[in-house]
Amino acid sequence: MNKDKINHVVIVGGGTAGWISAAILTRMLGKTLRVTLVESDDIGTVGVGEATIPPIMVLNNALGIDQADFMSKTNATIKLGIEFENWRKPGHSYMHAFGKLGKDFPFCGFEQLWLRGLQAGYSTDFWDYSLNYQAAKQGKFAMLDKIPKTDMQGLVYAFHFDAGLYARYLRGISEQAGVSRVEGTIEQVKKSTDGNIESVVLKSGETIAGDLFLDCSGFKGLLINEALEVGYEDWQHWLPCDRAIAVQSQASYPVKPYTQSIAHEAGWRWRIPLTKRTGNGVVYSSRHISDDDALDKLLTGLDGEPTTEPRYIRFSTGRRTHQWHKNCIAVGLSAGFLEPLESTSIHLIQTAVIRLLKLFPHDGIKEEEINEFNRQSQAEIEHIRDFIILHYHVTERDDSEFWRDCRNMQIPTTLHDKIELFRTSGKVANPVESLFSDEAWQQVLIGQGVVPQDYHPLADAMTEVQLAEYHRNVKSIIAQVVEKLPKHQDFLDVVNSSPQ
Ligand SMILES: Cc1cc2nc3c(=O)[nH]c(=O)nc-3n(C[C@H](O)[C@H](O)[C@H](O)COP(=O)(O)OP(=O)(O)OC[C@H]3O[C@@H](n4cnc5c(N)ncnc54)[C@H](O)[C@@H]3O)c2cc1C
Repeated sequence: MNKDKINHVVIVGGGTAGWISAAILTRMLGKTLRVTLVESDDIGTVGVGEATIPPIMVLNNALGIDQADFMSKTNATIKLGIEFENWRKPGHSYMHAFGKLGKDFPFCGFEQLWLRGLQAGYSTDFWDYSLNYQAAKQGKFAMLDKIPKTDMQGLVYAFHFDAGLYARYLRGISEQAGVSRVEGTIEQVKKSTDGNIESVVLKSGETIAGDLFLDCSGFKGLLINEALEVGYEDWQHWLPCDRAIAVQSQASYPVKPYTQSIAHEAGWRWRIPLTKRTGNGVVYSSRHISDDDALDKLLTGLDGEPTTEPRYIRFSTGRRTHQWHKNCIAVGLSAGFLEPLESTSIHLIQTAVIRLLKLFPHDGIKEEEINEFNRQSQAEIEHIRDFIILHYHVTERDDSEFWRDCRNMQIPTTLHDKIELFRTSGKVANPVESLFSDEAWQQVLIGQGVVPQDYHPLADAMTEVQLAEYHRNVKSIIAQVVEKLPKHQDFLDVVNSSPQ
């Protein structure tokens, strides 16, 4: 492997992946590293990717981002969860609300107390015990770490934002920290005899050499795929959607603090509310529905007038078999793609760059670093893949060929075992380092219709009287807190009126 020191990193691509990578690398390693980013105005970016999940706070904090400044400059709104309509069956809805539900008892998760309460007749709807859900549906929000005078978690949130403005915001941070930006289209990728990338050559003739290359060039994978020919593992047999159409529409008022995902006969639609507009899209399987019918579903489902022309996007769900190969690391769409059902792509960019930081090959690339990076990346994306398949597979829908195919497909063993364990015992088999919490799995499993047949005997530690009291208390605490919370819209109005 390359024994030379890594002094210069070249990032190919200036979409969300490129600019997140540039911002983190310069902020964290800028004293020892030179970073150049190449982007092409002629090619542009994918132009979608507007919903995030709570770990984005880690990124924002690491970059020293001021929340109000960031929100007002990216038209951001608060996201407390994702509502899934029509997924279990038409007319049904539930939410993957962020954060905890209920209140844990020593060593015993809330869900076990809920399951015991269900048998005893004390439990009501699972989401009556979710602060995030109750606040989301009532359009409320405030920064609240804990529920006062209790040990219960407060609101856990992420953001919806304008992807283009977000990339611009990160570009500002990166350039201030010393990133050199080169505008131009790469026409040639030069490799050395050992197969490493030496340089990229622009249409203008300019050559940019580097020690380590990040391929942030989008779906095509200019370096990892076209130059290094690293393979792609296709997951379409589990996730049949392969196309999307995106369109923007007029903003709705007041703005909802959650993402909507609305299933249709051959996929689903997203609705992402921003302060100045709404982002919409339809995701579908081209084997089950035509582009025209999908567009019709998108346009008839808008809650405001469209303000842009429809943008057509094709994708194949799967992952690059080696995200790091030779001196090239794929980050973003070039590394793989999972449809945006749980808003995980930006998160995967963030974790890839943090992983690179931790394993950074200062004194030359070692095979062990590459292997560890690839092992962790694979485990991470496969866990997310299983979570997304769950939404499709565990459904009561049989109203179309698409849903019948999803119900009947063979699923990964890892997922099959998780579902069966939960169904029979209420236990969630979740690796410690996994992105989705036990509560996330429980909400989607229960929301899709898997209600466990039993509960853990730990829940029997409470007497009947204590259990009834527990249920009443938790719901009443949550109801009282939500009652007093300000409106999400008022929170946004304050953010957008403060001088930056
Ligand atoms: C339909 C859809 C919806 C999505 N929704 C979400 C969501 O809600 N939440 C989420 O987290 N993620 C979402 N994503 C994923 C998200 O959009 C991407 O992860 C994110 O935008 C990163 O894209 P990227 O930077 O890898 O690629 P791109 O945005 O495609 O950027 C590629 C860059 O490479 C440059 N480039 C390419 N070729 C060349 C060349 N030859 N020379 C020079 N430069 C070149 C381009 O100019 C561009 O700057 C969604 C994706 C899709 C397809």
